[in-house]
Amino acid sequence: MDNDEFIKALAGHGVVLDNAQLSQFDAYFNYLVEWNQKFNLTAITDHDEVYLKHFFDSMTLAFFVPTLQEKAVSLIDIGAGAGFPSVPLKIAFPQLKITMVDALAKRVNFLNGLIEHLGLTGIEAVHGRAEDLGHDRHYRGQFDYATARAVARISVLAEYTLPFVKADGELLVMKGAAAQTELSDGQAALAALGGQLVAEEHFELPNHDERYIQVVKKVGPTPKKYPRQAGTPNKKPIQ
Ligand code: SAM
Repeated sequence: MDNDEFIKALAGHGVVLDNAQLSQFDAYFNYLVEWNQKFNLTAITDHDEVYLKHFFDSMTLAFFVPTLQEKAVSLIDIGAGAGFPSVPLKIAFPQLKITMVDALAKRVNFLNGLIEHLGLTGIEAVHGRAEDLGHDRHYRGQFDYATARAVARISVLAEYTLPFVKADGELLVMKGAAAQTELSDGQAALAALGGQLVAEEHFELPNHDERYIQVVKKVGPTPKKYPRQAGTPNKKPIQ
């Protein structure tokens, strides 16, 4: 996806970026590729692939959740890595209030450098594990939305993310072709954590890769025992 295809594909979903925002995407691409030579952030470094599989893919969340385009809502992104989906969303929709979390200090250093390099405000990067921060009162129950891309299967992801969501807030799950199997395996976890699936979008990226966005509403409180201690959700997913 070259720059023109990126602009057209976004416009097809009603998202129009100005020159300053396009320059920020360009600066993000260069910064990512430069840092990636020093330590591993992503396997994808080709310009057109980054624009499609990282930038455009991140933006799809806002196509199906228009509130993200319009309102100054808060979003926590667990396992943000090199900033996906948070940073593309923040560039396009600067009113969003975003907290990115990652367990690896090097990735958080990258994210802090990136925030400064792009001149972004209203976005922070926090070093920590979801299982620990999920019990911190500054974060627990504080967010309108939570998301996570390419971090864990839904049964595990729900335990990493739902503790951060406010009552009636939503977890936005981004998944590929295995989404529905993962969802049926994750039903017990969603129920135990106070979540309920309320919407699902199935679509293709311009290269025909299959994608799902599943919206899980926080319909009840997450019991205090969740998240369990670091490592346990992944080792023993709620069943
Ligand atoms: N979300 C990014 C993306 O889509 O490109 C990064 C995905 S990367 C495969 C997974 C990231 O999740 C890694 O940076 C890893 O350090 C982080 N991670 C995994 N488990 C975590 C946990 N329990 N708490 C916080 N971060 C975690």
